[in-house]
Amino acid sequence: RKKRPTRSGATVVSVANQKGGVAKTTSVASLGAAFAELGKRVLLVDLDAQACLTFSLGIDPDSVETSVNEVLLGTAPAADAIQPTDDGVDLLPSVIDLAGAEAQLLPRPGREYVLRTALEPVQASYDVVLLDCSPSLGVLTLNALTASQGLVVPMPCEMLSHRGVGQLLDTVADVKRILNPDLEILGILPTMYDGRSHHAQAVLADVGERYGLPVLDPPIPRTIRFAEAPAVGRSILATARSSAAAQAYRDVAGSLLSRI
Ligand code: ADP
Ligand code: MG
Repeated sequence: RKKRPTRSGATVVSVANQKGGVAKTTSVASLGAAFAELGKRVLLVDLDAQACLTFSLGIDPDSVETSVNEVLLGTAPAADAIQPTDDGVDLLPSVIDLAGAEAQLLPRPGREYVLRTALEPVQASYDVVLLDCSPSLGVLTLNALTASQGLVVPMPCEMLSHRGVGQLLDTVADVKRILNPDLEILGILPTMYDGRSHHAQAVLADVGERYGLPVLDPPIPRTIRFAEAPAVGRSILATARSSAAAQAYRDVAGSLLSRI
């Protein structure tokens, strides 16, 4: 397929899977830091009312004055909410009551387009924008998919996690048909991979063919180092610089860059 020209600078990529705990937030923080290491200007957007990404980048959601909330509801421009972080990426932070924004968006006309419209004025300032989606296929995730040219689907290498992928793919098909024909699935990102497990190996070998999707390489190994990163407000690329998982995220970021 032919490469499309980007709208205005940055390529916007959603990291989505309506299942929780599949490493969406971890992947956004890690890929963002990896892109920054490669010299790219990176914006991360926290679209989860749990505000885990905001917290993990060292920003207390309770101290956030202007959040993605106001940006989505049109009461503040994105530039007013964006903050720099110690990881070398910029963040459009969330607050815990983002769920309220979702409800307020529901009755609005064009509600799926508000994020895309809000990001347009800042898009020229970045090379990559990564959207950390909430574990649902609600209006915020539809906003993310509508604003994106690319989609990465993190998926742990366990059979159970595959449930629901069909539903996600149906939603992507609807979004492409109705809201955003430019959306392209960049691939499944295998996460929490235990290379010693035959089961995980079998899942990894099977998953691309099963869904007819590219599988990003290499898989991200399971590591206890991830548990330590959020406590210090830095991603694993800083806290465990030379770990296999950090290197895997760098390799995935490098291969994504050649495609976006
Ligand atoms: P999601 O955003 O999809 O809910 P998170 O990124 O918050 O998922 O990850 C869920 C949990 O799994 C977190 O505690 C995180 O530290 C952990 N985790 C993520 N990636 C790995 C990995 N490669 N190895 C071990 N634990 C991981
Ligand atoms: Mg998350």
